[in-house]
Amino acid sequence: MGLIFEMRHCAFVMCDEEFSVSNERKIFCSDRCRGRHHALINGEEAEMIRIENNMIIANYRILKAQRVGRVFRRTELRLLGYDLEYCSRYTINRAAGDTVTLWCYDLGLKVSETGYQLVSA
Ligand SMILES: [Zn+2]
Repeated sequence: MGLIFEMRHCAFVMCDEEFSVSNERKIFCSDRCRGRHHALINGEEAEMIRIENNMIIANYRILKAQRVGRVFRRTELRLLGYDLEYCSRYTINRAAGDTVTLWCYDLGLKVSETGYQLVSA
């Protein structure tokens, strides 16, 4: 007998994700949404900030393990566990055709048509 999957909406009010589940008890699309949901209902802003910071730190560790100058495709970053939603800041270089760089502290991803190039500050 195969697993039976059903589509479900994430229970976190600020998330629109639909996900497939075989587990009746799963109500959030991700651990992040579960954490945000609990942070929200408990009114714990500090918890929310901690979760967001941990995401940025996790991204930073992924970048730190890579060679500066390497160009990644979006799917490659995703496979490494990198979440493009999280960065500590971003910069726009007006002199270089409005090039956007997403920074995790001193390491950044310079966005271009060919992908995301790892750069160091
Ligand atoms: Zn969600």
